[in-house]
Amino acid sequence: MIKPKGEKLLNEIKEIVSQCDRCGTCLPVCPLFGVKDIEKVSARGKNNIARALVEGGIEADGQVSDTVNMCLLCGTCVSNCPNKVKTDEVMMNMRQYFADKKGGPGFKYKIIGKILKDRTAIKMSAGSLGLIKKVKLNRFVPYGMAPHKVTRDDYLKHFGGPAALKGSALTRETTLDKDTKIAYFRGCGMEMLFPEAAADTIRILNTLTKVQLIDNVCCGLPHISHGLQNDFFELAKKNIQLFENADVVVSDCASCSSTLKHIAAYFADDPKWREAAENFSKKIMSLSEFLVKVGYKPEHHLDVKITFHEPCHLGRGQGVKKQPRELLKSAGNYIEMNEADVCCGGSGTFHTDYPEIANAVLDKKRLNIEASQAQIVVTECPICLIQLNKAAQKGGNKFQAMHISQVI
Ligand code: SF4
Ligand code: SF4
Repeated sequence: MIKPKGEKLLNEIKEIVSQCDRCGTCLPVCPLFGVKDIEKVSARGKNNIARALVEGGIEADGQVSDTVNMCLLCGTCVSNCPNKVKTDEVMMNMRQYFADKKGGPGFKYKIIGKILKDRTAIKMSAGSLGLIKKVKLNRFVPYGMAPHKVTRDDYLKHFGGPAALKGSALTRETTLDKDTKIAYFRGCGMEMLFPEAAADTIRILNTLTKVQLIDNVCCGLPHISHGLQNDFFELAKKNIQLFENADVVVSDCASCSSTLKHIAAYFADDPKWREAAENFSKKIMSLSEFLVKVGYKPEHHLDVKITFHEPCHLGRGQGVKKQPRELLKSAGNYIEMNEADVCCGGSGTFHTDYPEIANAVLDKKRLNIEASQAQIVVTECPICLIQLNKAAQKGGNKFQAMHISQVI
C-alpha cells in the first residue's frame, strides 16, 4: 500500500505508537542502547519522540530526524515487546514523513537509491570494486566496502587440504517436482561486494537443477528504508513481472529474501497488483531455507570449527533459524556462539552513517565470535559479511568470515 502523506501518515504512526505502554522491556535488548545508554536510541525513547511529534508537542527538526535515522531496523525490540509494537515500522514511516516534507531524502540516499535502481550502474560498481580488490587497494575504500577476497577454494585449501579440492560435487535430485522452475535473485550487495560467493550459490543451485538467471532489479529495501517509496514500488512491480515464469525464487541475501517475502503486504490494498504480489512473495526462499527443503547435503565435512551469525532479516525477518545451522553442522564442527542473533551493526547504510556506533556494536559481536573459538564465522547477508570481515581484521584474523555458499 502506498503510504499516505502528511497528517494521514502521522495518524498511522500514532496508531502504532499508542500501543506502547512504556514498560521499558525493549531498553536492554536494543543493540544501540547497549553502546549508547540514552533513552532516545531505544524503542521506548523513539516511540516517545514519535508520539510527541504526532501530538504536536515537538517540531519535526533535525534532532528528531537524527533519532529516526539512528535505528538498525533490526526488529529486536519488536520481538521482545509484550505488545509487539512495530517500532521498526514507525521509524520507516517517520523517514518517509521527513522525506515527503523535504521533497525527498538526503542527497546521499538519493544517489544510493539511483545507483541501485540501475543495473548498469550496479555492474559498473561491481567491476570497480573487483579491480580495487585485484590491485589490493582495499584499505583505501572506507567502511570495509571492498572486503578482501576469501574464496571457497581458499577455505578448502586451508581447512580441507588438496584432497577436498579434488572431490567432485555429488549429483542431487531436488525433491521438488522435476519441472519446478527455480530462479536465482541477484542481490545488489552480493553482486557488487561478494561476486565469488554469488557464483558459489549459482554453482550449488545448478547441482540441483538448471537455475534461471534473470536480470532482476534491486529488491527495493534501501529505497523503502529511506523514504523513497515510489522507487520501491517501481522496483517491486518490475521484479514481480520478471519472475512471472519462475516457481521458486532463491536469494542468498537475507535482506533481499525478507523484503521480497513482504512485498505482498505492500500491495494488500491494490486490486490491480494484489494477486500478482501475493504469488510473487510466496515464491521467495532464502538460500538455506531452500537447500534444507530440497535435502541438500554439503559437499564436504571439514574438521573446522564453524559458528553462525544470524542476520536480523533471516531470523527475525523470516523465521529462518534452524536451516543454516543444520547445513553448517554437516559442513564442519558447528559451535553456537553467544548472542548469534544480535545485530552486527551493519544494517544497510547504518555502518557508514554512524561508523563509531556500528563499530561498538560490532566489537560485541567480535568478542562473542572469539569466545566461541570458531575458525570461521558464516552468515547469509552481504552487509553482515562486510561487518564480520572488519571484525576479523580488527581481531588480528583469529577467524575468517565467509558466506554460507562458500562453506557448504
Ligand atoms: S517493550 Fe514495547 S511497550 Fe514496552 S516500552 Fe518498549 S516498545 Fe513500548
Ligand atoms: S529496531 Fe533495533 S535498533 Fe531500532 S529501536 Fe528496535 S532494537 Fe533498537
